[in-house]
Amino acid sequence: MLKKRHLLIPLACLVLFIFIKYTIEFGNDLNDQSPIECLFCNIAHGKITPPKLEFENDEYVIFKDKNPAATYHYLAIPKQHFDSLKVLNESHVGLVERMKNGMIRFLESKNVSIENAVIGFHIPPFISQKHLHLHGISPKSEMDLSNRINFFIPSFWFKSADDAIESLKHADL
Ligand SMILES: [Zn+2]
Ligand SMILES: [Zn+2]
Repeated sequence: MLKKRHLLIPLACLVLFIFIKYTIEFGNDLNDQSPIECLFCNIAHGKITPPKLEFENDEYVIFKDKNPAATYHYLAIPKQHFDSLKVLNESHVGLVERMKNGMIRFLESKNVSIENAVIGFHIPPFISQKHLHLHGISPKSEMDLSNRINFFIPSFWFKSADDAIESLKHADL
C-alpha cells in the first residue's frame, strides 16, 4: 500500500502540471475559435506565412512546429477543419492513416530515424490549437523533461497515430 502511494504522488503532480500548463498557456486560444478565424485553417490554405509549408497535397499540409521539442518537429494538418481527434469517426481512418504515412515519408526524406520519432496527437482538453494536428518529432532523446511529459505515450493527453487509428476503427475515442 505504501509503495503504491509513493507512485501516486509524482503521478498526481505530473497530471496537475500538464493540466495547469495547458489551461493557462492555451486556454484562452480555445474559446470562440470558429473555423473562419482558425489559425491552422489559414496556414493550411496558405493565407498566413510563416510558417512555410514544407509539404502540401489536396488533403493536408506539413510545416515546422513553432516551438520545436527536438531538432525535427513538424505538424501535419488537414485542409478541412476538424476540432480534434474527438470529432472524428470510422470514416476518417483513411485520412489519419494518410497523414501518418505522409509524416513518416516526410521525416524519412530528411533522413530522420523513425524508430527514434514520436508521431501522435494531443487529446482534448490538452490541445494547443483547436484544429486537428499530428506531431512528428525526432529524435526523442533530445526532448527535455517537460516535452517528454507533454508528448508521453501512452497517456490520456497524447496518443500515438497508430493508437488513434485503432481507436477510430473501434469508435472508442
Ligand atoms: Zn481550422
Ligand atoms: Zn499538440
